[in-house]
Amino acid sequence: MSVNIKENLARVEEKITAAAEQSGRTRSDITFVAVTKTHPCDMINEAIALGVTDIGENKPQEVRDKFPYVSPVKWHLIGHLQTNKVKYIIDKVCLIHSVDSVKLMDEIERQACKHGIDMDILIQVNISGEESKSGVAPDELEPLLLHAAELSRVKVKGLMTIAPKTDNPVTNSVHFDNMRRLFIDISQKKYYNVNMSYLSMGMSGDYETAIKHGANMVRVGSAVFGERNYSQK
Ligand SMILES: *Cc1c(COP(=O)(O)O)cnc(C)c1O
Repeated sequence: MSVNIKENLARVEEKITAAAEQSGRTRSDITFVAVTKTHPCDMINEAIALGVTDIGENKPQEVRDKFPYVSPVKWHLIGHLQTNKVKYIIDKVCLIHSVDSVKLMDEIERQACKHGIDMDILIQVNISGEESKSGVAPDELEPLLLHAAELSRVKVKGLMTIAPKTDNPVTNSVHFDNMRRLFIDISQKKYYNVNMSYLSMGMSGDYETAIKHGANMVRVGSAVFGERNYSQK
């Protein structure tokens, strides 16, 4: 089955623009991360040729393996990251969305120092409390934010969440609102070395809702590239 990436991108762009405007912003206020996991490099390069500037992968090994074959673009690591895999991606990605422990922050700091680079990160929050989700509970955020003050290469740039899977995106509004509240609350508290620039939330099923409720970074995969086929890998 072939996928029309050009048409899909145009549709997603239109919806992002509409949702941004409905929330008093413009298209340029929103970063669109095209999620390319499981998809081949030729599809990714087609999307980049069509104007995609940011791509997201959830597995560090996949970033490492695809990196040499993909046109210049900003890479985002959006999935769970084990400390022993940080070395695969440290010099390749512009933003790590999925930081949820002091231990992981420390390893990113160590690897960033080794490479002489700064690394932007988001703290992943489990806002719905679903047991299957990674991320810290809202009341576990503060120790991570305070820890950032002790780091020189790691820069905390915002928050990320994965909302529950749902057929009705409106049901996730409450989670998006809770994230926005946290985001604003942290901005006002002014933690050292913490800047609330990005609120990464919203996927194919709910990115318009997420934007209307404050997201300024969305991660959209299947709405652009079609369903993923995990068996082919
Ligand atoms: C796969 C993935 C997405 C994109 O999912 P779609 O529903 O295909 O848009 C977004 N965020 C994370 C963390 C993912 O792993």
